[in-house]
Amino acid sequence: KMDSPQEHIIMLPFFAHGHLIPFLALAKQIQERTGFTITLVSTPLNILYLKSTNTQNPQIHLVPLPFNSSHHNLPPNTETTESLPLSQVITLFHASSSLESPFRRFISDVTIRDGKSPICIISDVFMGWANEVAKSLDIVNVSFSTCGAYGSAAYVSVWQKLPHRFLENDNDEFCLPWFPERCRVTRSHLHQFVRVADGNDEWSKFFQPQTTFSLGSFGWLCNTVQEIEPLGLEVLKNNTKLPIWCIGPLLPQRMLESSSNPGTFGKRAGKEPGLSPEECLKWLDLFPKSSVLYISFGSQNTIRPTQMMELAKGLEESGQPFIWAIRPPIGFNLKENFRDEWLPPGFEEQMIHRKLGLLVHKWAPQLEILSHKSTGAFLSHCGWNSTLESLSQGVPIIGWPLAAEQVYNSKMMEEEMGVGIELTRGLESSIVKEDVKRVIEIVMGKNGKGEEMRKKACEIGELIRAAAREENGVKGSSLQALDDFVASILS
Ligand code: UDP
Repeated sequence: KMDSPQEHIIMLPFFAHGHLIPFLALAKQIQERTGFTITLVSTPLNILYLKSTNTQNPQIHLVPLPFNSSHHNLPPNTETTESLPLSQVITLFHASSSLESPFRRFISDVTIRDGKSPICIISDVFMGWANEVAKSLDIVNVSFSTCGAYGSAAYVSVWQKLPHRFLENDNDEFCLPWFPERCRVTRSHLHQFVRVADGNDEWSKFFQPQTTFSLGSFGWLCNTVQEIEPLGLEVLKNNTKLPIWCIGPLLPQRMLESSSNPGTFGKRAGKEPGLSPEECLKWLDLFPKSSVLYISFGSQNTIRPTQMMELAKGLEESGQPFIWAIRPPIGFNLKENFRDEWLPPGFEEQMIHRKLGLLVHKWAPQLEILSHKSTGAFLSHCGWNSTLESLSQGVPIIGWPLAAEQVYNSKMMEEEMGVGIELTRGLESSIVKEDVKRVIEIVMGKNGKGEEMRKKACEIGELIRAAAREENGVKGSSLQALDDFVASILS
């Protein structure tokens, strides 16, 4: 441990659980390794949320800054993207910049109280304005991307350049801006807001300046492992011309579990029995090694009713055992009982009866499921946390990316890592059960491609775990990167 307990780092995450949790995990990691004081600031409700997940570390201060969503044309008490319909999410993005004045005041107060400036501000890539605050106060600002290197580079470069702007058709290909020629996508790959962005829309007006500010920071921290994303890392380094410290994996699961859970799944309706993590694992115990498919679209996303129906039928027809963290599709909630519109009649009961599939309606114990020996593949929306969690356990991925940078994660796993295969993407795709069945057969098959993917996933899993280890005095690359980062801000 380094011996400068008086140093102080201020951290500023974006307003979404998928950002708050890795920020807190990073705070802990830095604190434990350096002894520094860390303060994480956000809006009052986000701080409350973090407090509920934090197994208290007295050296990590969680400080609310004034924010009132009603002042920004948002419903009262709206402080994370999760609580908003998609059409209003951009309003919250813009509102996040209003933290600037209170943030500036806070830094001044800390400086007076500590008798010196904080040694560094770590701000979310989406909170680029913090770089300007830091510069004006002569404090080092480092940006933290909660995504991987490939995903960050693709996401930021597409917002910066909007390369698809002048294409005629949604299926015309273009090269991802900072990437080698072979990394091509079509406009239909892009999330709906990026797809229609022209530089003058509200999304571009947020992302273009904020990412530009972040590109002006002292360096970037990235929630990844350098050995697993050589291309993404090279692209990010070459184009940002900044030091990139790969300090991942910041696996958030433990914290999510110890909390009373953000409750994004809502309460299970009526008298239906709930399932404990132990019950999930007991169920997995029934099956042979690598034979069960785990399905989840993360903490916020879901698919359409027709897509869900085809997915269910495909699962059933594949005959492959599965465990599905299921949320009602778009337009439905748990209280209503229109399940016949999105699942075949009697599906849940039949699947259990036939010992074929288990539906988890609440929060699934994801890391436990992924680390169970029976789990053989993960049908995932390719959120970065899910991606890291799955690969860290050597579990290959069937991709169904839905939002944010997920489509790039899915692409990277398929094309660069060879550990994934994309089933489909987005909410518009007209997926049919035959596709589901076919892809499951490829990935879960004991010969050929599936085995190859599993082997590669295991190799990557070993790299991920090794990066966070210190053995016989040899530091894993992520520990080394964290120390390098600390050394750079101290010098
Ligand atoms: N998660 C979980 N149980 C669930 C759903 C999600 O434990 O039923 C956790 C998952 O392990 C991961 C996080 O929630 O750590 C989801 O993050 P990710 O980046 O994959 O996707 P997001 O939810 O941000 O879209």
